[in-house]
Amino acid sequence: MVSAFDHGGGVRSVRVPIPDNPLGHTLVYVVDTDRGPVLVDTGWDDPGSWDALRAGLAACGTAVGEVYGVVITHHHPDHHGLSARVREASGAWVALHAADAAIVRRTRETRPERWFSYMAAKLTAAGAPEAHVAPLRTPRARTLPGLSPALPDREIVPGELLDLPGRRLRAVWTPGHTPGHVCLHLEEEHPARLPGHGRLFSGDHLLPGITPHIGLYEDPDDATVTDPLGDYLDSLERIGRLSPAEVLPAHQHAFADAPGRVRALLDHHESRLAGLLALLAEPLTPWQLAERMEWNRPWTDIPYGSRNIAVSEAESHLRRLVKLGRAEPVPGSDPVTYTAV
Ligand SMILES: [Zn+2]
Ligand SMILES: [Zn+2]
Repeated sequence: MVSAFDHGGGVRSVRVPIPDNPLGHTLVYVVDTDRGPVLVDTGWDDPGSWDALRAGLAACGTAVGEVYGVVITHHHPDHHGLSARVREASGAWVALHAADAAIVRRTRETRPERWFSYMAAKLTAAGAPEAHVAPLRTPRARTLPGLSPALPDREIVPGELLDLPGRRLRAVWTPGHTPGHVCLHLEEEHPARLPGHGRLFSGDHLLPGITPHIGLYEDPDDATVTDPLGDYLDSLERIGRLSPAEVLPAHQHAFADAPGRVRALLDHHESRLAGLLALLAEPLTPWQLAERMEWNRPWTDIPYGSRNIAVSEAESHLRRLVKLGRAEPVPGSDPVTYTAV
């Protein structure tokens, strides 16, 4: 199996497996600089994934000890999981946007019980049945993935060039999938001279065949009413205007025609919002809405953890509709229901 792919112009990618996940792997990009390779994302924290990353770096003609820096697109464990190990082995800096750095800090400080009681309260408010919420209340030893993610050494500042000696890599803030998600724009001519403006490391923001999950920015300590779907749609337009010649995403494969993919995703969300409005002809809780939405399989086949993610996605769409003035909460309903205006 080829463990590294050469994208030309001093950029390669390594497939780092994500255990037991249909996504399969994270594409970790290796960007040559005058001071040694810089990684875009690191992959899932698992012994097999670590071995794959090391083998991939060897296939790139380098080694983990040579890594000069690590740029993280967002805090999720399939992107940021191995950052601590890479830093330990190399002394590399690790950079993350401030909003996702805050999540990392909170994850490290929050006891799991606090998180489970927050989730139980949140799901009850969303109209989840007691049978679904009850397991979150039983005092049992539980573990969460990525409990101790690496604290970054540097902040990724939107609009600024990152410290890649001899290269031009600029951070573009693209909140939505997470509040501190960034894309990274390599402002250099495409090595095969494809038309457009440079290349874009797009993380999970723009993928060729997957619509990224847009939920709520879950934070037990922050009651701000955010609009992640609105943020995501704005971020998509920003990337469309950038018109990169090629997109290098964190999953699946590289692709051209970013503006076309952006349009397809904007259309997808527009028709999804229209479909939800039709469902909201009758008042529904977020849970009831999630049950009626279209997923990649029937609701009854969706496993427990994925249902929580689905409800979060239903809520982000409700937030958007309320913000647009196209839906509103029914006064006095408990748990709160929403209806189309
Ligand atoms: Zn992600
Ligand atoms: Zn991902």
